[in-house]
Amino acid sequence: MTDQDGPPETGEGEASGAARAPDDLFLRIVAGELPATIVHSDELVVAFRDVAPQAPVHVLVVPRERYETVAELAAAAPATLARLVEVAQRVADAECGGQFRLVFNSGPAVGQSVMHVHGHVLGGRGFTWPPG
Ligand code: AMP
Repeated sequence: MTDQDGPPETGEGEASGAARAPDDLFLRIVAGELPATIVHSDELVVAFRDVAPQAPVHVLVVPRERYETVAELAAAAPATLARLVEVAQRVADAECGGQFRLVFNSGPAVGQSVMHVHGHVLGGRGFTWPPG
């Protein structure tokens, strides 16, 4: 894995949904059509800072291909999910001592607002449990 590779060559299954759904904000960030502060990019995933950070470290890690939920990603492209988790750890190692909370909101009822799977990497402060 490198930090700045070219276009995806995943070798995994086709992503669900429209590959270029015009309402997919994160596909537009991945394509460079919308600005973002990108902290990692490779052939499978892109990581960028959340525009409304909820912690000193708040990075979103997203697959280049469109899947709605983490379960869908796990079923269709497990290597991409594994890479996403690896990158989350790398971000945390670099920015907050390696400890982090990794959140996948799956469905609007629990707070998913962008229907392109993304892991929230949160760190740099204490967290309570249970979450709100
Ligand atoms: P969720 O509510 O789990 O779907 O998370 C979506 C996240 O995307 C929120 O934390 C938003 O703050 C974040 N977000 C929305 N638009 C952007 C953007 N243009 N760049 C970076 N983060 C964004």
